[in-house]
Amino acid sequence: MDICVIGTGYVGLVTGSVFADLGNEVVCADKDASKIEMLGRGEMPIYEPGLEEMVARNVEDGRLSFTTDVEDAVTRSEVIFICVGTPSGPNGQPDISQVEEAALTIARALNRYKVVVNKSTVPVGTGNRVREIIETNRRRHVDFDVVSNPEFLREGSAIHDTLHPDRIVIGAPNQSVAMIILELYAPLERPMLITDVASAEIIKYASNAFLATKISFINAIANICEEAGADVVQVIKGMGYDQRIGSAFLQAGLGYGGSCFPKDTEALIHTADRLGYSFDLLKAVATINRTQVERFMDRLEAALGGLEGKVVAVLGLAFKPNTDDLREAKSLEIIGRLLAGNAKVRAYDPIAMEKAREVAPAVCYCENAYDAAAGADALVLVTEWNEFKFLNLPRVLSAMRGKLLFDGRNLYDPVRMKRLGFDYHGIGRSWAALNGK
Ligand code: NAD
Repeated sequence: MDICVIGTGYVGLVTGSVFADLGNEVVCADKDASKIEMLGRGEMPIYEPGLEEMVARNVEDGRLSFTTDVEDAVTRSEVIFICVGTPSGPNGQPDISQVEEAALTIARALNRYKVVVNKSTVPVGTGNRVREIIETNRRRHVDFDVVSNPEFLREGSAIHDTLHPDRIVIGAPNQSVAMIILELYAPLERPMLITDVASAEIIKYASNAFLATKISFINAIANICEEAGADVVQVIKGMGYDQRIGSAFLQAGLGYGGSCFPKDTEALIHTADRLGYSFDLLKAVATINRTQVERFMDRLEAALGGLEGKVVAVLGLAFKPNTDDLREAKSLEIIGRLLAGNAKVRAYDPIAMEKAREVAPAVCYCENAYDAAAGADALVLVTEWNEFKFLNLPRVLSAMRGKLLFDGRNLYDPVRMKRLGFDYHGIGRSWAALNGK
């Protein structure tokens, strides 16, 4: 099938590459000329494991191409995937202007029947809005349909998630349109849900909001553990064995970040308010998430006896491991607070430092974790990259000036850290409980 993907970000580039790999002819279109130029040179504008190889293979086989001419790409395709950004507006409301712009381009290029598939995360009702824009702006009276096909991939495992999704949701106006999209996904042999457009749009927000709720819930429990002399890691084990609860997304830490959860929870709160329902549960989830770093930093500041003139090493900058994405990364909040308190920040991340230099230029970027630790009064673990699990920790400690280790992801074993000589602080882990181990 001839496919056009509008937007070559994390979702669009991965979606386009996977559909090409499944044997379709795919053209990925983006209005950002620098991204398309990079892709033309075989360079990836984002870091995603396995992506470069997949893109190269399909470009070489002639199934995948890139362009800035969105209109032309639409003209040549039967199915068009909209994969543009839907950031938060100033009050947390979802900004769908990129989706509207893509719809306008599709309207102008409409030359024969096409299925327009919205993969961007959008508030309920956007499918209708896209239909309306195309209907009122098309130059020829040509038929089209609008489908909602929300994306559930996770950055860092995007290729794997796209090839092996837990489910594929197809919100379509009728069965025959749904079948066109179902056929595209059939080679993946994964569970598919065919539903209406509005329900599909809500499924995406409800899923992300539920996962965010799990994270804030366990962070609230961690905060109680700290006060009560309990160990949240034990609590999580005891809860996670219950099959009704499960252990996924039940890790205490600095809270959720990234390009999806913070904006999608805010968007759902906003959409609910607009529809006349106050989603108080989700409002509390967002508040807990916002205060999690503040609590952590208050503890760090108290342990350091103030931030002025202190040297703090930050390990991990990306919002989670295996990505270079810094959107809503907790590292940036932490660095902001450290710099505002006149501390010196030495940071290291295996992949995200290039992007971090642009947004946090006042930080001293280091060669590796040991270099970052050099002369530090405290070490703060922010992103649980695999390589940090296997650090030579005695070497880290001997490079430091102090011995404070603030572990924002509960990556390390507190008892072992204490034995090594660190003054260890995790999330929801109290020494009273750990002494009993
Ligand atoms: P992104 O910002 O990485 O990429 C969006 C791309 O769209 C950019 O390259 C931009 O230049 C391009 N673009 C914007 N308007 C355009 C237009 N009119 N014509 C052509 N190109 C245009 O965004 P992303 O992270 O890939 O997310 C895209 C959507 O998917 C969002 O709604 C997001 O919420 C959702 N989503 C993201 C993820 C994720 O992990 N990143 C997962 C699931 C869903």
